[in-house]
Amino acid sequence: MTTTWDLTFVYKGFDDPQIEMDLKKADQLADEIGKYRGKLATLSSSDFVLFLQQHEEIGSYLVKCGSFGSLLFSQETTNDNFKALFAKVQQKSVAVGNKLIWISLEINKMDSESFTKLLEDPLLSNYHHYLKVLRLREPYQLSEPVEQVLNQKALVGTSAWVKFYEEYTADFKFEVEIEGEKKVLSQGEIRPLFRDPNPITRENVFKAYYQKYMDNSIAISHSFNNIWKDHGQNVDLRKYPTTMTIAHLRNQTDEKIVETMMGVVKKNFTLVQEYYKAKAKLMGQGEVIKGSDLYAPITKVTKYSWKEAEEAVMSAYNEFDSEIGQMAQRLFDENLIDSEIRKGKRTGAFCAGITPQLKPVIHMSFDGTSDGVATLAHEMGHALHDMFSARKQTLFNYHPPLVVAETASVFGEQILTSKLLKTMDDEDGKLTLLVNQLEDAIGTISRQTMYIFFEKECHLKGANQTLSFQEMSDIWDKYVKEAYADSVDFLSEQSANWASIPHFLFTRYYCYAYSFGMLFVLGLYQQYLEEGNSFIPKLKSILEAGGSQFPIDLATSVGLDIRKEEFWQAGFDYLNGLLTEFKEIVDKRS
Ligand SMILES: [Zn+2]
Repeated sequence: MTTTWDLTFVYKGFDDPQIEMDLKKADQLADEIGKYRGKLATLSSSDFVLFLQQHEEIGSYLVKCGSFGSLLFSQETTNDNFKALFAKVQQKSVAVGNKLIWISLEINKMDSESFTKLLEDPLLSNYHHYLKVLRLREPYQLSEPVEQVLNQKALVGTSAWVKFYEEYTADFKFEVEIEGEKKVLSQGEIRPLFRDPNPITRENVFKAYYQKYMDNSIAISHSFNNIWKDHGQNVDLRKYPTTMTIAHLRNQTDEKIVETMMGVVKKNFTLVQEYYKAKAKLMGQGEVIKGSDLYAPITKVTKYSWKEAEEAVMSAYNEFDSEIGQMAQRLFDENLIDSEIRKGKRTGAFCAGITPQLKPVIHMSFDGTSDGVATLAHEMGHALHDMFSARKQTLFNYHPPLVVAETASVFGEQILTSKLLKTMDDEDGKLTLLVNQLEDAIGTISRQTMYIFFEKECHLKGANQTLSFQEMSDIWDKYVKEAYADSVDFLSEQSANWASIPHFLFTRYYCYAYSFGMLFVLGLYQQYLEEGNSFIPKLKSILEAGGSQFPIDLATSVGLDIRKEEFWQAGFDYLNGLLTEFKEIVDKRS
């Protein structure tokens, strides 16, 4: 039996009057904090701390209400009460947010002498990183009325398109023939069938899935084109040096580091090609694998019950470290995981760390596959990261930047895989695990970087012209070819794959955080393998730092240099080792 979450520790329900009261409180505090306006540069350090604490308090109310609205919506996207609450909370948050826009503007307008004084003041040490990050955006900030209008217009602009796309595609029904029977499936029901053991079912599923997106090309193209154009306007208005600048600011990294990382990933597209050639051989397809077989299970699919999934993940975490094991157990004991598959539920998996004062919760649709077990380990890692961060950080430093936000999640997956590799001695089991690990790495590192290449070209071209569905498919195919070369024979419908990836709409260049994050963690994991248990306190210190340090400094704190190509290559050396093991078994069998 899968589980549903209990969110009553946030609010009692969508109609809890406390929601309204908290929104009001946020609004009042936003008015009150206005008394500091025009005086920030002259405040004493202790007053500046009070001011920032009040600012954080407003944020806490807004995040709490906003997260609750969005969690209920994810739970049941078709529920009108939840939709109404989500919309209302969003609207009020924007209204309150507008009253606070002056803050970042005023901090950014401070002369560098006053600002440096703040950064040197030990009383303000908790906020140093926050202030530094805020100031990063200073060169790109517009005047207050313009920022306010942009904020308001986003509600009927990008946010509206994202919500439209999400609701519209969540409601898709897919007609598929499965073993001679016509079936109508929801998103949550069809996606696991990409990995169905029957090759004909897989092919039918792939065709039906992407055909649906092609049949809805008008709605989809509009959603994507509006995002490309909106971002193009942003780049012009704010004079960002490149279309990716916003992502580097958000990730607290820089163009050079990211270009180095992506260059290494591109150089290692050979891993993708060699892997799929070997998989084709294993499946008796010669040297080229069929596009619908990308995720084909190569040995018997092991199905896990929810209980078994819990046991596998918990024993891995417990063996790694007892404190971490105890923290992870809370997620089950306190009903913080929604793992049930339901119609209308948002697809995908995520962990929501709301505020440091509230427990994190996990949203996923557990399908009983080993991939589902890995997802559980992954999202639990996120939850652990949030719990560690909550120990030392306040709201402004709570969430790590995206590129290191995957540290605990991917580390957790590695712990699970190693544990399973160790406990399984038959060749079939080992093969499955190697396939899982390699496909996961290819999906997370190589594919996500390929996504970025696609997104980059769409932003460049789509800023000034409307791209047709076909044009976007052509761009997609170009980068697919670069990554997979001639190792995969894709179905024509798979050219529409991009249309099913919501990340392109949600956040600009979101996906490089996956590549960055996983390669970063493979580096850490390698260090753990070499160093043993003495590495665990270092890992905990990274997690406890939450969002209080730049990624480059976090890496330096454990002796790694992310500006160097060698750092990123180390992750691939580790993966190439796994590939060699995989190929040895394949050669033996064919
Ligand atoms: Zn994640």
